[in-house]
Amino acid sequence: MHEQNCSEISVAIIGAGISGLSCATRLKALGYQVRVYEKSRGVSGRMSTRSTADWNADHGAQYFTARDPLFINELKQWIKDDVAAIWEPRLQVFKAGEWQDSASKENRYVGNPAMNTPGQYLAKNLVVKLNQTIHHIAYDQGKWLLHSQEHGAIQEQFDWLVLALPAPQALVITQSIDRPIEEVVKRANMQACWTVMATLTEKTNMPFDAAFINSEIISWLSRNNSKPNRAGMETWTIHANPLWSQVWVERDKDEAAKEILDCAKRLGLNCDAAKISIHRWRYASGHAAPISGFRLCEDLKLGYCGDWLNGGRVEGAWLSGHHLASQIQKTQHQTNL
Ligand SMILES: Cc1cc2nc3c(=O)[nH]c(=O)nc-3n(C[C@H](O)[C@H](O)[C@H](O)COP(=O)(O)OP(=O)(O)OC[C@H]3O[C@@H](n4cnc5c(N)ncnc54)[C@H](O)[C@@H]3O)c2cc1C
Repeated sequence: MHEQNCSEISVAIIGAGISGLSCATRLKALGYQVRVYEKSRGVSGRMSTRSTADWNADHGAQYFTARDPLFINELKQWIKDDVAAIWEPRLQVFKAGEWQDSASKENRYVGNPAMNTPGQYLAKNLVVKLNQTIHHIAYDQGKWLLHSQEHGAIQEQFDWLVLALPAPQALVITQSIDRPIEEVVKRANMQACWTVMATLTEKTNMPFDAAFINSEIISWLSRNNSKPNRAGMETWTIHANPLWSQVWVERDKDEAAKEILDCAKRLGLNCDAAKISIHRWRYASGHAAPISGFRLCEDLKLGYCGDWLNGGRVEGAWLSGHHLASQIQKTQHQTNL
């Protein structure tokens, strides 16, 4: 039997969030031909920053932690190359109606100068096709065929396919091919998050840069300008809690923002004179316990990675993509023997 060299093996990755980019960089380093398809006009997914002429705000992931040696190693490279930095906010917690300084000693990191910078850094040496929403896939005679909403049938065919998407978005694409995925997606139970960005005309005098809020509509407040190298007017990112966001996911944007801003005002952040921007994350976060790290259907040469399979969060997503790539390599190697 002809033994395939890695450079002859092609992999399509759908989704250029941190998990897809992590999987892609590792597969590329192992010698595979990798193409990444992304529906947005930029990479990095939920590690995202809204930028305007006057202000910027990280409106998805706020920071990340690093606990696993593999991710710590990756982070060291990001820091060395100046695309990530430590963030040391004055951090408070609002609990049972009272403010306290946070006792957490954990190191928190952010992209530098924006949360999407590490993603852009990973994408630099990859072929990433932007503005391509993959809405249909087919497996035919050992090859994966893709269709995008914007460009129809994609000419290239692929040996392997990786879905690096939030669980419900992966389900829509693969449920007729990989039926057991439905159960896995249910376990992930991804929930929404309403986010308000408030740009103030004058600097505030808040006693913290970021705060975890308990038992309110809001679960998080943070002053974007307290992060390293953030320019522009003082802008706060306010996240509503997952439960409230999920219940009110279909709510009118302005109505949702009003409730969130009323709550912020009660907590001391008055945004009456602020410029407001609103974002609804339909699939923000999932189950905090890891499901299986990643998922690989070897017979179909179909893989899944993403935070939802690996405990949520940036580190979990990066590791999920990395480990999936290693498993693809292992499987491919066994096929070649
Ligand atoms: C509001 C909010 C706050 C958060 N706070 C934190 C935090 O403080 N710390 C932390 O560690 N994590 C946080 N997270 C979670 C963190 O952002 C995620 O765990 C991580 O970014 C997920 O990466 P991913 O690659 O798995 O998915 P994503 O980043 O969602 O990437 C998926 C990509 O697929 C693309 N896509 C979707 N459908 C298609 C399609 N059909 N075709 C092509 N492309 C498609 C999307 O555009 C996206 O770019 C937060 C997330 C949100 C939303």
